[in-house]
Amino acid sequence: MRLDHLTLKQYRNYSAVDVDFSPQINVLMGANAQGKTNLLEAMYVLALARSHRTNNDRELIQFGEQFARIAGHVSRETTSNDLELIISTQGKRARIDRIEQPKLSQYLGRFNVVLFAPEDLALVKGSPATRRRFIDMEFGQMSAKYLFALSSYRTMLKQRNAYLKQLKFHQANDQVYLEVLGDQLAGFGAEIVVARTSLLQQMATFAATIHGGITKGREQLTFAYQSQVPEEARQSVETAQAALQTLFKQHTAREIEQGTTLVGPHRDDVAFIVNDKNVANYGSQGQQRTTALAVKLAEIDLMKAQTGEYPVLLLDDVLSELDDARQTHLLKAIQNKVQTFLTTTSLDGIARELIDAPTVFHVDHGT
Ligand code: ATP
Ligand code: MG
Repeated sequence: MRLDHLTLKQYRNYSAVDVDFSPQINVLMGANAQGKTNLLEAMYVLALARSHRTNNDRELIQFGEQFARIAGHVSRETTSNDLELIISTQGKRARIDRIEQPKLSQYLGRFNVVLFAPEDLALVKGSPATRRRFIDMEFGQMSAKYLFALSSYRTMLKQRNAYLKQLKFHQANDQVYLEVLGDQLAGFGAEIVVARTSLLQQMATFAATIHGGITKGREQLTFAYQSQVPEEARQSVETAQAALQTLFKQHTAREIEQGTTLVGPHRDDVAFIVNDKNVANYGSQGQQRTTALAVKLAEIDLMKAQTGEYPVLLLDDVLSELDDARQTHLLKAIQNKVQTFLTTTSLDGIARELIDAPTVFHVDHGT
């Protein structure tokens, strides 16, 4: 997959931009605060209809303007699309080949990107919520079914939590209705747990190979999916659903007391284990960085396995953070395979001999 062309209007510090890209490595070079990250962010938003930096879409609109427009031409092996997103103070509108998409869920999935930024160290070090968000964003990009189960689960979870609060404050007393809500929640929850189990397993295999390469076989990376659904119940939707129903029953009294759902995939986590130890707790800074990199690169392979196409890789300020051996590994892994956009303040210190004639764009004050 590749982004051939990008047009921006009133996006962050870009008043207007119209640019063609190379199908291979594109280097976005410029001093600080010129708009390098903004450009990568625009590509990310074009793919996912949301920013990785903010939940507030208004921040994406240029100061003093009413809307921002991002448009891009995306090619796949056999098809291509014109994607367009208009972000205004009233909300977002999405078009594919100039046809308005009433639902964002219909728009998503046409353009797949993997972004690696310095904040991604939080994938290893951060809270379980950070890792869940990562998993959901990635798996949602690969599978419309996953995205649907996830949004249905969230809607049901809100309903069940609201009802638990009513029970807590004696505004309701129908326990049978609570069970009905629990059964529906367990249905969607089971689909999420089963999909996470299978996709994490595949991703772990790719990540282990990459990690072994970077550490020259000295360290071994494995994933541990942590879910309240017992491992033996995670293989099929039926068994996972039964397990969740049992968990809800066991926790009903406490859930009413606290007015919230205490069990389910919204509490899941994944631990990254290096040489039998959780790297978040016991790993060095370098080991954590290597783990984050291996996990991110594994996404590229997983996406290829799931969708048949490599995603577009967005690397923000990453090379300067890596030593030569890791840079080499990264660049070798992507060379001639994945269209890449990488930002840097200078070409010094980049293992340039590894990049076949990169296309360099100079980013200067939003131009
Ligand atoms: P660095 O090398 O420091 O990471 P960068 O080139 O990645 O720099 P960006 O984050 O892309 O920099 O751009 C930052 C600039 O964009 C800032 O100067 C900021 O004021 C400007 N900016 C951010 N949001 C908006 C907006 N909504 N409207 C106009 N300008 C904005
Ligand atoms: Mg930046």
